[in-house]
Amino acid sequence: NDSFQVRIQIGSADYVAPMAIGTEQPHIVDPAMAAAAPFPNSLQQPSEFVNPNMHTGASLSNNLGQSQPFNQGYQTTGRHVNPGLTTAENQVIFANNLNPSLTFDNFVEGKSNQLARASAIQVGENPGTSYNPLFIFGGVGLGKTHLMHAIGNHIKAHNPEANVVYLHSERFVNGMVAALRHNKIEEFKNYYRSVDALLIDDIQFFANKTRSMEEFFHTFNVLLECQKQIIMTGDRLPREVENLDDRLQSRLVWGLTVEVEPPDVETRVAILRKKVEHMGLDIPNEVAFFIARRFRSNIRDLEGALLRVLAILRLRNTTTITLDFVQDALRDQLAVMDKMVTIESIKKLVAEHFNIRVADLDSKSRARSITRPRQMAMALSKELTNHSLPEIGEKFGGRDHTTVLHACRKVRELIQSDSRLEEAHRILSRTLRS
Ligand code: ADP
Ligand code: MG
Repeated sequence: NDSFQVRIQIGSADYVAPMAIGTEQPHIVDPAMAAAAPFPNSLQQPSEFVNPNMHTGASLSNNLGQSQPFNQGYQTTGRHVNPGLTTAENQVIFANNLNPSLTFDNFVEGKSNQLARASAIQVGENPGTSYNPLFIFGGVGLGKTHLMHAIGNHIKAHNPEANVVYLHSERFVNGMVAALRHNKIEEFKNYYRSVDALLIDDIQFFANKTRSMEEFFHTFNVLLECQKQIIMTGDRLPREVENLDDRLQSRLVWGLTVEVEPPDVETRVAILRKKVEHMGLDIPNEVAFFIARRFRSNIRDLEGALLRVLAILRLRNTTTITLDFVQDALRDQLAVMDKMVTIESIKKLVAEHFNIRVADLDSKSRARSITRPRQMAMALSKELTNHSLPEIGEKFGGRDHTTVLHACRKVRELIQSDSRLEEAHRILSRTLRS
């Protein structure tokens, strides 16, 4: 069954980098401004906006549907009805969907997300006046989208009138394209400029989409000027998003940038426990640790494994989770994982190919004969494993994630101009994949 396929990865995610605020400085809050009501009553919405409950496909957002048992189907909080457009067209152009099941209550705190969570709570409590914009970044499946919805839900809980709009940046792009096609660009602009809080997920999708970025930048400015809250997420720092508007980047400096890191094993166990409890079941310690140890660097995969276990449990009509049962239920996933490409295997193969030692890859050597293979091995690690840039950096002699990013770019560039490196890259990735 497709819905139980999980993407699996291995690797030592026990590396937990120290919590770091980006180089950006927090916006200093003016107490007088903070005291002012965050949401004036005038919602500035044209009168043709109506808000019947409506359902939008979870597929439109970031894979939320995958966690079905935990996140039941959710209702959008409103919609913009525009005569002359079909419902589907309206849904594309005017997004508005918060998932009520992603809250702070069911977000497990750990060292890896402490700062991000605390900042998110601040923003949820004082929208528009604490950290604005708030930018949350980090690898796949680490809770960015969850935190973002939690903020939105918190804002709505305290102020049900607040117009909180969540959308994936890809949807912003699609919405804008559709609006242009239907001559609704003014409505599109007005819609997004009239919200109280705008939640834009995965802004790396804006990379190279100049027109959308431009439009988003204007919306962004209008909202910030009116002290409306902006929250964004991305899989990397804003300055690392290719061709991200410079003005947007410099404006992000006004707010706060926080990172979510891969969780440590205790946090992974706590997450499993919480989810299992939520289902009214119990999971023995050894089983929780077994799953948490195998599914290390991504909470979505961890959840996927658990979902599979629970589904098979239901199928067999039992509620007793034993280690044997879990090993059996996850046999295929574990087998795939054992065959996955690891950074160690990449290093070994690259070192062999370039006739250097594995240790050279971790060394401080800046000789071209070493730096090229090192860059190649880093780039392959990014391409073929699910490790984050900081994790890869750590595995290559404790280097910074920006060094890894630079290596990835350099290799991409060299592949275009240097046929020997192109060939090396092709052979190495083919060998590793097979
Ligand atoms: P991202 O947006 O960073 O890719 P998500 O927010 O979609 O990740 O999280 C992936 C899954 O893991 C979601 O189902 C989310 O609810 C769950 N999750 C992530 N972090 C936590 C946490 N700290 N506590 C509980 N569940 C979490
Ligand atoms: Mg996400």
